[in-house]
Amino acid sequence: MRLKNHSLVKIILIFSLAASLLVGCSPKEQSKAPLTKTNYLLGTLIEITLYDHQDEKTIDAAFGRIREIEAKMTINSENPSQITKLNDASGSHEVELSEDTFYVLEKGKYYSEISGGKFDVTIGPIVKLWNIGTKYAAVPEPQILSDSLKLVDYNKLALNKDKLTAKLEAKDMKVDLGAIAKGYAADEAASILRDHGVKHAIINLGGNILTLGSNVSGNPWKIGIQDPYHPRNDYIGIVNVTDKTVVTSGIYERYFEQDGKRYHHILEPKTGYPADNGLAGVSIIADKSIDGDGLSTSVFILGLEKGMELIESLDNAEALFITTDKKIYMTKGFKAVFTQTNNEYKVME
Ligand code: ADP
Ligand code: MG
Repeated sequence: MRLKNHSLVKIILIFSLAASLLVGCSPKEQSKAPLTKTNYLLGTLIEITLYDHQDEKTIDAAFGRIREIEAKMTINSENPSQITKLNDASGSHEVELSEDTFYVLEKGKYYSEISGGKFDVTIGPIVKLWNIGTKYAAVPEPQILSDSLKLVDYNKLALNKDKLTAKLEAKDMKVDLGAIAKGYAADEAASILRDHGVKHAIINLGGNILTLGSNVSGNPWKIGIQDPYHPRNDYIGIVNVTDKTVVTSGIYERYFEQDGKRYHHILEPKTGYPADNGLAGVSIIADKSIDGDGLSTSVFILGLEKGMELIESLDNAEALFITTDKKIYMTKGFKAVFTQTNNEYKVME
């Protein structure tokens, strides 16, 4: 949950796509200008745009909920969160959690399980070693890295649903919800907007896009899928979605370079190094953003073949894979809503 380089670009991209859609609206529909607010939370730039409401308080309430989630789940703040308390109690005792933190941890463990440990909610010690997204980012010492790898094991995260408690069974283990908390925050922000009667909105948490309803004309939103090699100014295509989330994980999201080699922030838990399997990016379409987020990270590390297998085994999730040799692979359901806009990439059958 740290700074993301290209979030702003995504936001502008989505905003301009969404705004361009409004061009086709009737004068009555256009009379309500969208209301947008931006805040920096959960280590990323977050933008919420309402298309049928002018009430700032509604947006503020949604941001309030995201702030609350950050306070409970971050490991990157000076103030203790429920997750830092859980981490500090590793190897010692269980800690009590609020329902929402428990739910996100449970989802984290679920994605760890269904990805066969490629996603690992206890990746914290390795994330800390790399420091990606901070000025201290550097390739860790191999010995320290291999010692820390022993601390990564989601099976040693014990969850007790009746008591709403969790325990990390070995000392110095650390949970990191960076791969999933933004998705949850998007879902919760959407639910607050809905409670306030909002029917048409876009929530963008640095790459986690959630569309509420359709656009104001009743048509699907058009969401751009970023070009992993030109994330600042281009996208490979557009998807048409209504009431869905579109979540992307990629090699370009957050990275640093050392000795001419690029290191990104999605780590393979067996080696402790950034996943390097021929994928440049993965986008997921799902109903809930927490699932989109969990799946985009899981599938990115699983790679094309195993990732495709996982998505095909699930209901209500579609995926697009971009390989480093500029090929695009999609599930059937993704293909049905995707329009390619960049011919540098080759769509594969
Ligand atoms: P983004 O934060 O760019 O949206 P992801 O959702 O893919 O990207 O999450 C990446 C973050 O997830 C990393 O910054 C780190 O905190 C955490 N992470 C890295 N590797 C793993 C992994 N193997 N399993 C679970 N979480 C991971
Ligand atoms: Mg994720």
